[in-house]
Amino acid sequence: MSDKSKKLVVITGASSGFGESLAKILSKEGYPLLIVARRLEKMEAFKLPNCLCRKVDVSNYDEFEKACREAEEHFKTKIDLMVNNAGVMLLGNIWEQDPKDWDTMIDVNVKGVLYGCRIVLKDMMERNSGTIINVSSIAGHSPFDSHTVYGSTKYGVTCITDTVRLEVAQKNVRVLQISPGIGETELLGHNSKSAEVYEKYLGWKKALDGQSMDPYQVANTMKFMYELPQEISLRDIIISPTKQG
Ligand code: NDP
Repeated sequence: MSDKSKKLVVITGASSGFGESLAKILSKEGYPLLIVARRLEKMEAFKLPNCLCRKVDVSNYDEFEKACREAEEHFKTKIDLMVNNAGVMLLGNIWEQDPKDWDTMIDVNVKGVLYGCRIVLKDMMERNSGTIINVSSIAGHSPFDSHTVYGSTKYGVTCITDTVRLEVAQKNVRVLQISPGIGETELLGHNSKSAEVYEKYLGWKKALDGQSMDPYQVANTMKFMYELPQEISLRDIIISPTKQG
């Protein structure tokens, strides 16, 4: 039996959505946690026991690594699970979008994931144990209208997961991925500047007759992937509302 109280878990983007739900579930299970995002006050308001909350922009490597090392010192154990969940979705056609939005998505969705992997991989390989779960998207497997850049960051996450997995497999380190379809989180709100995009997205949701995943459904799936034996890698789960097709 594994002792959950000695397995330090880091969750990025834990101030809302999937990350918040996962933090709450794993906290109840007794895992020590480091949760990071930019909205510190939101995370602190969860009042999770045995949990460090830190204001971290995952596109800043030094800031991200510092929080992780601090958590390892604090809990006196190495990170056993890194969940690279933080993400930004700014939809639009590339001939209209502000290229600064592309930079934001690439910085958070791609570099943030690379940074999270880099921070833990050497230790995990030395210990012959450890798990990374990267949050990609169904848009990291198939194209969707207005998703050119967001989708390419998520295809990028899929590439990172698949490539690093095979590089570290012999060290018994798991590099896994979950690829959700539409979930009920703050993600769509990232597009509040563009009424047109917002309306288009709502139209897609309407076509699903109101089906949309509760964030706890996605978070519980991540917990399931993690709690399988270290020798078993559930490499990628694509999970979506049934009517998303
Ligand atoms: P939310 O918007 O609710 O959560 C996104 C999280 O990322 C927030 O906690 C936000 O916190 C954090 N975040 C954003 N930018 C940064 C940054 N620079 N540094 C640190 N944290 C950051 O949406 P979801 O829960 O849906 O998103 C979680 C993941 O799931 C994302 O990777 C998303 O792409 C993916 N996904 C979501 C789907 C959905 O339909 N909901 C479908 C497919 C994939 P803060 O603003 O406080 O920094």
